[in-house]
Amino acid sequence: AVEVRDVHKWYGTHRVLNGVDLTVRPGEVTVILGPSGSGKSTLLRVINHLEKPEIGHVSVNGELIGVRRHGDRLKELNERTILAQRSRIGFVFQNFNLFPHLTVLDNVAAAPVATGRLGGEQARELARELLDRVGLADKSGAYPRQLSGGQQQRVAIARALALRPGVILFDEPTSALDPELVGEVLAVIKDLARTGTTLVIVTHEIGFAREIADRVVFIDGGRIVEQGPPSEVLDRPRHERTRDFLAKVL
Ligand code: ATP
Ligand code: MG
Repeated sequence: AVEVRDVHKWYGTHRVLNGVDLTVRPGEVTVILGPSGSGKSTLLRVINHLEKPEIGHVSVNGELIGVRRHGDRLKELNERTILAQRSRIGFVFQNFNLFPHLTVLDNVAAAPVATGRLGGEQARELARELLDRVGLADKSGAYPRQLSGGQQQRVAIARALALRPGVILFDEPTSALDPELVGEVLAVIKDLARTGTTLVIVTHEIGFAREIADRVVFIDGGRIVEQGPPSEVLDRPRHERTRDFLAKVL
């Protein structure tokens, strides 16, 4: 489960998140929608503590992320502990962020080895399984530049899975792709959803959201404007701002 509690984030006088509360239950798929600049990426980055909230906190599977309780205050954890926590939270970026100098297989196998969880041969075995799962068993020896965007993004998903994360965060995973490559990436994400992986996905793919989301969250101005099942938020939005946004993206 992911619990975001009263999170505020600001840069100088610019308030980016203004009291966000969000609960994602184990196995649930949450899709986050909202206009550009509304704070969607910042919210994902707060969840894995790439950004530190000024107020509020996040916990994943009952564990506070980035901080620990110190009396009635929160104290920052050391960098090593934060990195260990972050390695249990998958993150898939818009631009794939693969290691260009590593083969596909090594891109997927690298993290379990670097974190000391698996030996090299075990990690490569796991990587082969995961590449098979995302339909890329035949590409394990290729380098990222030799793959299409859709293939690179599927490698990035396999890489996230290699750490057996409790939750995977996706930040617009298909928005850098040519339209004909979007479907293959969405199909892999749908498969993860079906098998009960906890997912938080920022996307503008409304049809996809309707198909797989247990809950849709609409954010504007750093606040959750409304949330609920797709049949409510997408089909019968209660707020003017949600209606305006959907009219633009649909
Ligand atoms: P998009 O749909 O365009 O990706 P978003 O909803 O993901 O937008 P964020 O990237 O979370 O929006 O940014 C929210 C606001 O915070 C924006 O106004 C952005 O300029 C600002 N912001 C984000 N990161 C920083 C930073 N490091 N320093 C200053 N301002 C920032
Ligand atoms: Mg963003």
